[in-house]
This record gives sequence, structure tokens and C-alpha cells, in this order.
Amino acid sequence: MPSIAGNCALCQQHKPLIESHVIPRTVIQWLKDTSGTGRLRRASEPNRPRQDGAKAYLLCAACDGGLLGPKEKWFVETMFRPYHQGPGRPRVALSYGPKLLYFAASLSFRVILLEQAWHTSRRGVNFKDFTVPLNYLRRYLRGLTTNTDGLEHYVILTSSLEDVICTTHTSEGVHVERGWAGSLGFDLMRGVDSVALDVMGHLVTLVKLPGFLFVTVLKPRRYRGFLGTRISPQGGTLALEPAQVLRSDLLDFLVGRSARLDGIAMSEAQADKVQQLIDRNPERWMASESARLLPHLRR
Ligand SMILES: [Zn+2]
Repeated sequence: MPSIAGNCALCQQHKPLIESHVIPRTVIQWLKDTSGTGRLRRASEPNRPRQDGAKAYLLCAACDGGLLGPKEKWFVETMFRPYHQGPGRPRVALSYGPKLLYFAASLSFRVILLEQAWHTSRRGVNFKDFTVPLNYLRRYLRGLTTNTDGLEHYVILTSSLEDVICTTHTSEGVHVERGWAGSLGFDLMRGVDSVALDVMGHLVTLVKLPGFLFVTVLKPRRYRGFLGTRISPQGGTLALEPAQVLRSDLLDFLVGRSARLDGIAMSEAQADKVQQLIDRNPERWMASESARLLPHLRR
């Protein structure tokens, strides 16, 4: 694995640094394995197939693989895969243990590091506000404190929204429709995203994995709106309620992000390339998660 020397963002020692991902490597691999083309596409850049999630040289191997890695593996094996593969998929409830809080904290920590590494200024995001939460998260992740120092971590289980009933009020009356129009459901189950943003005057980090949304409130504390289930240090149960994501304060942002997929936001050349990959292995395409969800996307 290639490495460069630098200060590790977690243990802060000068060491060889490896490429760190926000999105777990095994989740990226799952997306490739279950896609019709064996490739990965980001919602924000539909014309550029990505072989990988966002990454940068941030952590030493001991911190990335030794400290954060086991919790990531735990999440993928005991929550992510069962949620996507369980009998009667998607399962309606998932129990979690104390490790979920650590995993959520590690996601937020890595989003902040990547935001700082790229530093693209955005409305509502003041990069100075990252300093204090980053120090809290670092102490917590290194095991120097069990106190989360008031940082709130939330999670929402998401679905393709095929079962949602939507009502629209028009001059002719009330129109009732099954499923969510547009690509939000597809994006929730096939897209990955990691970003810091302003939600209702709060600075938060958001990590979108297929079926899961993780949000950490960095500043100010005590979020009063709705961001999903607050992760308890003792563990608990997550239930799949499609309405959760629809009444979350993130909905506008998520719809805006997924809208880039709407109307087949793919260039013709790119669409041809995807078609060639499908033609080469139609069985793979027919069995893929993308094919299953595509009618929903095209609605
Ligand atoms: Zn380190």
C-alpha cells in the first residue's frame, strides 16, 4: 500500500500515512459487487465512474486499521450486511451495541479531516468551527475519554421509499400515489456521500451509506429538530420507518443531492459505456441491485 510521511491526524505522531476512506472499503466493494456494471458512480458526478470513495493521506496504519478498522468491520458485518441481505429484506429492525457510537464518531472525524484537506468554502460552513469538535472526537476515538463531550450522533435507516404513500393537493382534489417520485429512494440505497453542512443553523457532518444516514451535530449543541434516532452509548434498536427520512431536517438537502440523478443525468457517451457493460454480462445486470431499483429511478 503506498504511503507518505506526515503527522497522523489521530495519534498526531510523525509516521507513514496511508490513504483513509470515509466510506468503508467493504461498503464500496459491496456497491461494486451488487451493481449491474461492477463500477461505482457518485450521485454528484454521474459522468465520472469512481473506482473508490473519497480518500486522502490522513492516518497512520495503526490508527486507521488498528483503532478505527475493527469498529468499521463490526458495523459492516453485524449491521450493514444483515440489513441488505437479511431474510425478508429489508429487515424492519436492527439492534446495535455501544460500538455504533464509536463508528459514528469515526465517520464524523474523517469527514472533518477530508473537509479540512480539501477546504472548499461553502455557505453556512465556517471551517474554524471544526477545531473544538475535532479535538473532542480525537480524544474519544483514542480512548482517552468515554465522554462524547456533548456531540450528538444520529442515525436513520433508509429504504428505497417504494412503500411510501404520497399525497398531493391539486385544484382537482387530492392525488394519492405510491412511492416517492424522483431518485431519492434510489440514491438512499445506492449512493454514498460525505459532507459537512449547515442544518437549521447547526454545523453537522453527514455520511450517507446505502440504507444508513449518519449525522453528527458539531455546533451548537442540543439539536432541537429531527435528525433520526440519537445513538445511545449503551446500544438500542433501530427501526426502519420510511417516514423518518421524509420528516428529517435533511430532506431538502437529500432531495437536492439526489435530483442530480433525475432525468438520466448521464451523458450519452457514458450511457453507451454502461450499456456495453450490461450487454457483456446481462445476467449480472439482471441480478443486480441497480436493475431492481432502476424502474423506481425512472418513474
Ligand atoms: Zn496514528
